[in-house]
Amino acid sequence: MLVLGYIVLVAVILTLAYALLILVLTLVSMRRGRFYFPRLIKPGLIVVEGLLRSLWKALRLDDRELTSFAIRLRNQMNHDQFCAIPMDKRAIFLPQCLRSADCPADLTTEGLVCKRCMRCGIGKVIDHLEEDGRRVFIVPGSTFIKRMVKKYHPRAIVGVGCLLEVKEGLEMAESINMVAMGVVTSKDGCVETDMEWDRLLEVVGLVPGTP
Ligand code: SF4
Repeated sequence: MLVLGYIVLVAVILTLAYALLILVLTLVSMRRGRFYFPRLIKPGLIVVEGLLRSLWKALRLDDRELTSFAIRLRNQMNHDQFCAIPMDKRAIFLPQCLRSADCPADLTTEGLVCKRCMRCGIGKVIDHLEEDGRRVFIVPGSTFIKRMVKKYHPRAIVGVGCLLEVKEGLEMAESINMVAMGVVTSKDGCVETDMEWDRLLEVVGLVPGTP
């Protein structure tokens, strides 16, 4: 019984020490604007996420900063692989909240089909997004993403959404060995959200050699 108690105590201490190490590396990386030991931080952000968020809150830090950091880290680590994927093997998933409240698009089994009515930003950039054979989907939820990935077998995806959606999307993509990049919307909400379209065009068009 005593031995078991020691084992549990050691496990707790090791877990706490690991979480503290990830916390310090994350904070130093954020402050200095570069990623230190990314291969160590990335799994840590998942394995001890709950504990890390508790420590984060105890330090009165903004929870969103940690999520944003996790997204930037994954994007950075996926960057080179993504650049190497041909354009026609890339798929872009846009959330339906980006469209206008008066959107006339019809919902199909492959998501919404934009009619280019120009009432929202999608209509203005969708032709550019589709250039060079890239597939674009405007989807109401993650089940559509999984279905379209299964159907069209893209080798890389770009997912747009709010902080939490993008974070979870990047984790989901990794779990199915999919190269993914995430772009976060600039305005949260369920309707008429917005984003930096230039940033999205930049990401979808990444080629080897681009930063
Ligand atoms: S541009 Fe496309 S997505 Fe936007 S409101 Fe019009 S039909 Fe809907």
